[in-house]
Amino acid sequence: MVKIKITGNFDGGNPKDQNSIIQTAPDTFNIYPYSEDNDPNYKFRLDIKAYNLSLHTRRIKLIIDWKEPKFNHLRDYIYIKHETKSDWSYIKAKIDETQTLCSINLLSGETYLCLHPKYSYEDYLKFILRIPETEFVSKEKLGVTPENREVWLLRFSDNMAKPKKKIMLVSRIHPYETSSSYCAEGIMDYFLNEYPESLSDMLSNTAIYLLPMANPDGVYNGLCKLTAPDGIDLSKQVDTRDSNSALLLKCIDEVRPDVYCEFHNWMFQELDGIYFFNRFQTRRFIRNMPSQKHFKKTWKPFFRKKIFSIIHHGFKKHCREKFGSVSVCLEYPWRYRKVADMKELGVDTLKALAKS
Ligand SMILES: [Zn+2]
Repeated sequence: MVKIKITGNFDGGNPKDQNSIIQTAPDTFNIYPYSEDNDPNYKFRLDIKAYNLSLHTRRIKLIIDWKEPKFNHLRDYIYIKHETKSDWSYIKAKIDETQTLCSINLLSGETYLCLHPKYSYEDYLKFILRIPETEFVSKEKLGVTPENREVWLLRFSDNMAKPKKKIMLVSRIHPYETSSSYCAEGIMDYFLNEYPESLSDMLSNTAIYLLPMANPDGVYNGLCKLTAPDGIDLSKQVDTRDSNSALLLKCIDEVRPDVYCEFHNWMFQELDGIYFFNRFQTRRFIRNMPSQKHFKKTWKPFFRKKIFSIIHHGFKKHCREKFGSVSVCLEYPWRYRKVADMKELGVDTLKALAKS
């Protein structure tokens, strides 16, 4: 009788193909995560669910083979969440050349096993649904993706016809990067929970535009980087032949942001990355942010070509050239941070950008 079942075949799951999840002993599973283009820079997606069908806790062993040695030293953990728990637990793992190896006490019932706390298309739709339209908050469905998923834009403002400053924040450009979704939720919660007086201060002369899921098809399909297996990288390309890219471009051109910010989630676990700001903007941003040292993070700004090209590209370039926007990408990794920390980080980032 089958006592443990593991699957990735659900919204946001990876790997979805059951042939990539092989039970080699009663409590041992070999998992082969999927990447649409096998780019080692982005092969960081694992979202599976384990069902313990027995009444007792079972210790299971996962052998997660990424078949990718280049960045495997960064894959030395997973996050898990049992259906009865309210938060994710960090599980330290061992690594060898291409594998992540971990043992888990699997409680009876359903448990998510993910590289990062998962945030699916369905989570996003629930998030959109629970947003009431208020004096300060409005939401607009911009359109749908090629696979008919919804792209929404939220606007927070005190309804001044012409705000002096427009800040646009975009999450889930890259589908594996779930920290960006929690930053977006934190910002929305802030605007719904704070008192109107403090909002008036925050929003005086400023309008905030939040695009919480830029790439819903990629998120749903368990992709790492692109809009589709043969799609584009929204962080680097503006290409209207891709209808998702065209939808975002139309929205950005209507907003004409003064500040354009993308939230990303790289894998350098002890560094928070800042790129595309100049030195002055970087110094001011860091000064306006609370220290992240208790999460063992230091800031890593990029001014010269190193890990990423700092030449503006994608919507960053488009906004700067067309509207003179200040563009920035922020890379917020997970380790040592919980969901609540990510939400707070989103709000702190917005406040720092509002002062920039
Ligand atoms: Zn990214």
